[in-house]
Amino acid sequence: MSTPATGNWSAKYAEGCEWCGTRIPAIKAKGKSGSPTRGLEAAHIIAREYGPEHEWNVFILCPTCHKIFDEVIKPRVQAALEIAVTGYPKKIVLHCPSGYGSNLDAVVGEFIRDGVIFIGVVGRDCVKIEEIIDELVVGDGERNCHLLTSSHPNETVEDAVRFAASLTGEFKGEVHVIEI
Ligand SMILES: [Zn+2]
Repeated sequence: MSTPATGNWSAKYAEGCEWCGTRIPAIKAKGKSGSPTRGLEAAHIIAREYGPEHEWNVFILCPTCHKIFDEVIKPRVQAALEIAVTGYPKKIVLHCPSGYGSNLDAVVGEFIRDGVIFIGVVGRDCVKIEEIIDELVVGDGERNCHLLTSSHPNETVEDAVRFAASLTGEFKGEVHVIEI
């Protein structure tokens, strides 16, 4: 819990939770000044230690929305930002627990664009999904002829990761699991 140092924060606090609109009066501990001990909370996209107290970095949230932000949204935003900044990692285990999804083509297109060298597929319909990926790679032409794929029917994600990690030579490197 913290009160942002800059900006028109008191007005923002008065408007209630930015997501669900809940209004909670700030209650300060008896005889103390400074941050409220109960009430709306400041949720930071980039942690306070590293990020600025700017409006773009802070949501004013009720405790329930703050928990959803910290446990569900923030980890995904950070993972997405990492990929946006550094591109996809070069070796990927694609976990497809619910089988083929219509977003597969777009995701594989991004892998190809970012120079991914290996895609191991595990989960429902993984053999079929590997075939679709191979077709997409071939369809993309000569520049991606080095993309290797594998499928892992009746295996766990851990098995597929172990296989990907065991690849050597030009396919050496760290493995990242991406679920679609
Ligand atoms: Zn809320």
